[in-house]
Amino acid sequence: MKRVISVLGSTGSIGRQTLEVARELGLPVAALAARSSLELLERQTREFHPKLVVLYEMEAALELARRISDLPVRVAYGMEGLTEAAALEEADTVVTAMVGMVGLRPTLAAIRKGKRIALANKETLVCAGELVMEEARRWGAEIVPVDSEHSAIFQCLQGCRDRREVRRLILTCSGGPFFGKSYQELEYMKRKDALQHPNWSMGAKITIDSATLMNKGLELIEAMRLYHMPPEQIQIVIHRQSIIHSLVEYWDGAVLAQMGTPDMKLPIRYALTYPERSQSAAAPLDLLSCPPLTFAPPDPEAFPCLALAMDCARTGGTSCAVLNGANEAAVGLFLREKIGFNDIPRLVKKALDQVEVKWNPSLADILEADQRARCVVTA
Ligand code: MG
Repeated sequence: MKRVISVLGSTGSIGRQTLEVARELGLPVAALAARSSLELLERQTREFHPKLVVLYEMEAALELARRISDLPVRVAYGMEGLTEAAALEEADTVVTAMVGMVGLRPTLAAIRKGKRIALANKETLVCAGELVMEEARRWGAEIVPVDSEHSAIFQCLQGCRDRREVRRLILTCSGGPFFGKSYQELEYMKRKDALQHPNWSMGAKITIDSATLMNKGLELIEAMRLYHMPPEQIQIVIHRQSIIHSLVEYWDGAVLAQMGTPDMKLPIRYALTYPERSQSAAAPLDLLSCPPLTFAPPDPEAFPCLALAMDCARTGGTSCAVLNGANEAAVGLFLREKIGFNDIPRLVKKALDQVEVKWNPSLADILEADQRARCVVTA
């Protein structure tokens, strides 16, 4: 079955790779949405002929509307536009590739239309995972992860008829650009050092999260929500080569791994074709030319973000939303070179200390926790 897709965050790293896959598979595109990248969104619109395009920023949207007035396409802006793109009738699959909490409301809108969510916006599941998964169950919306580790687990779970057969999920972690460094050494790391990821090419926010290991902490929470596993049954293992994308261990001792060259187009492609597999033009993994595969434990002292995320995973309630909101704000400050590298965990810790946790949170509680966390960081 050929899916009709809408891509939210189409000008970012995952969004651009999604459109490459759409081009290869010949998938029709119903809607495209981006924050502010006017020129690229115009090019994408001219190539993929969506019915609706959205720029989050109004000024940019007005300029886009002027530029593409020769095309039969509607232009919208703001959260309203984003939500409309997510719910658009014509698409059966929505790729949520925007960065951060801004993805939450559009993701819920797509779920309530029963669409397949190709989920690349991990912050949504981190902040409001229980709510999102419950809504997905209620509306019969499939959530297929695009995050490479979660896609690996999803693939290793195919054929598993009873989740109680799973003993552990094992998330692999490249270790990022600062693997092996001490907390003291990390104090002096700059934006340019942190933006050099060894294996994956990704957007700026997630690359910083990979350097602090917050990314793996967020992924632990994401895995808990997606697979209904307690944090005690999720292990994080440093695997520098990024060949094994994650593993599932069953109670009989069998461990299934999903392997491949580090290429985000594979999990994107699988999320768009699942349960089928399509042919890819990418070079296959050559085991004989692979470097030796190594494994090591993470260092929570050098990378306190990981320990903070694990605490929030156990605490639950709105703590994960505070963690995520504080981290988004702190990473923003680091990218603008306003704070140092180790200020990221310091500020996240400060927010977690100051914003009280609410249990069984509503959407409003989650949004409020997110806002309060950001205020603590930027104060
Ligand atoms: Mg990942």
